[in-house]
Amino acid sequence: MRLTAHDRRQRRWATSTKRYRSHTVPVDHSPVLPAIPITTVRLGAEVEKLVLGVLRSGMIAQGLLVKRLEDEFAELIGVDHVVAVNNGTTALIAALQVLDLQPGDEVITSPFTFVATLNAIIESGATARFADIDDRDFNIDPSTVGAVVNDRTKVLLPVHLYGQCADMDQLGDVASAANLAVVEDAAQAHGARVGDKAAGSWGTGCFSLYATKNLTTGEGGLISTNDASSADRLRVLRNQGMRQRYVYEMAGNNYRLTDLQAAVCLPQLTGYGRQVATRQAHARRLNEGLRGLPGVRVPEALPGRHHVWHQYTILVGDDARLDRDGLLEALTGEGIGCGIYYPRTVFDYHCYREHPQVVVAEAPVASDVARRCLSLPVHP
Ligand SMILES: *Cc1c(COP(=O)(O)O)cnc(C)c1O
Repeated sequence: MRLTAHDRRQRRWATSTKRYRSHTVPVDHSPVLPAIPITTVRLGAEVEKLVLGVLRSGMIAQGLLVKRLEDEFAELIGVDHVVAVNNGTTALIAALQVLDLQPGDEVITSPFTFVATLNAIIESGATARFADIDDRDFNIDPSTVGAVVNDRTKVLLPVHLYGQCADMDQLGDVASAANLAVVEDAAQAHGARVGDKAAGSWGTGCFSLYATKNLTTGEGGLISTNDASSADRLRVLRNQGMRQRYVYEMAGNNYRLTDLQAAVCLPQLTGYGRQVATRQAHARRLNEGLRGLPGVRVPEALPGRHHVWHQYTILVGDDARLDRDGLLEALTGEGIGCGIYYPRTVFDYHCYREHPQVVVAEAPVASDVARRCLSLPVHP
């Protein structure tokens, strides 16, 4: 099981809360409980009711509720087809697998992302190559893509980090000029838009429903597409390559989501607009309070972009009174949860520097951002 620093913190927090409850007097060497954690998961009575209904129905694997989740999410983001899968990483893997990439084919992505983006490219058999990012939206800078496109490039895989879409107008032009398929890592960007076009509607959109994402099933994923034949291939791939039982059309896998999980997510869709509005209000309030502090750059939604504020991430500069790590420590000491997403460029680890499917290159903006970024609580 993958345990992120966040998971570990949340776990520590959960156990220390229990310890607190079982004693009349708190043990005073226990860690400071975050008064404001970096993420919270709160699921209401409607989730409990729907989950209980599924449990009692005895039909707990993929069924009608998964179908309902697919349809309602398609409606929410304005695409024709959504295919639910068991996590965001498999969403990316499946989206790449149906493109029939050959060994040596290349996928261009962001160097500043969660490692799942890179792992999915490797799993698909392709080779990863990196553009650089723009430090205003933390996403691929379209002007850095041309230099890494070559005859083996088949896919452009932008990441919509922190809940803000990449510059898809420009990236779309770059992709069509070079005849590249577009796979979007929209794991953090449910409902994010540029104008009235939503994340996941430029190419194949890959969403995560992991516990800490804006919408969650604990573990889960969704793939969006406007292409009926890709949707069809994704459904067959998800189900061991079968359309009919024991009739195999392709080498598939088990990427299915369960009704039990869909039941956790469905009621969240109803209130999602409200959740995003609250995140936006929190981001505005933080910006009002923090803008102008020496050495702190607050995050902004760029013109025309509807930001869903999965994370609120500041950049700490050299002229700040504390450096990034000092600030993290000080805030943690005050019970304010914060996180570093992400501490290094994604390829900057021994296992990738040596990897035959990873082309390591300098990404100066991403490296600099990785040293300076700090995410503060923005959740509702
Ligand atoms: C969470 C995340 C993923 C992977 O999703 P899982 O559901 O955890 O597999 C991929 N890319 C990014 C940017 C993410 O934040």
